Amino acid sequence: KELQVAIDGPASAGKSTVAKKIARRFAYIYCDTGAMYRTVTLKAMQTGVALDDAQALAKMLAKTDITFKPGDPEQLVFLDGQEVTMAIRQPDVTNNVSTVAAQGTVRADLTERQRVIADAGGIVMDGRDIGTSVLPHAEVKIFLVASVEERAQRRFKDNAEKGIHTPIDVLRDEIETRDHKDSTRAISPLTQAADAVRLDTTSLSIDEVVDKISVIIEQ
Ligand code: C5P
Repeated sequence: KELQVAIDGPASAGKSTVAKKIARRFAYIYCDTGAMYRTVTLKAMQTGVALDDAQALAKMLAKTDITFKPGDPEQLVFLDGQEVTMAIRQPDVTNNVSTVAAQGTVRADLTERQRVIADAGGIVMDGRDIGTSVLPHAEVKIFLVASVEERAQRRFKDNAEKGIHTPIDVLRDEIETRDHKDSTRAISPLTQAADAVRLDTTSLSIDEVVDKISVIIEQ
């Protein structure tokens, strides 16, 4: 049976790495909802739309096309036909995305798109509000957490591989600020669904996390 797998959790908890591997193992579709919020943020920044202007963002979204193209290891992201896979990971997008994601018009629009993607079949979707709001009837709900120290260290290592050398305490601050904004917004804040399985990945490898989730899916 093709299931819906919702993977939520705070920033840099390893959601997308794990979700991608689960999707590959079960031949499910993978949907990175954070990439969608990032893409909207990038477009608003590029076109001068105020990041907290809910109405202007809604108008912009009505003329915005966001598509994914499966790629290995990276899934490619397109904004209005242009590839933005790397551009949406820039630090200024990362630092602005929570403001855009707090706007109800943006959440309503992207939630609708995410449900359409999920309707296509077996899906692994990662984000902040998948189990609570986007796919409340998902058969499998995982809430991935890890200590902020561990998450900052993982981000630091990822960055080093890309030649980025942001100090670890700056990364820790960024993670904590973003988690706070995402957890305290009025609409669909980051929170664990009542029926989600909480997995602390602080001292687990990626493969251990993937195996634990696979066991839950196969139950
Ligand atoms: O997962 P990622 O770190 O790429 O998400 C970027 C941002 O997008 C989050 O910090 C949050 O503000 C927003 N987001 C959201 N709801 C989701 C996924 C992401 O609000 N389902």
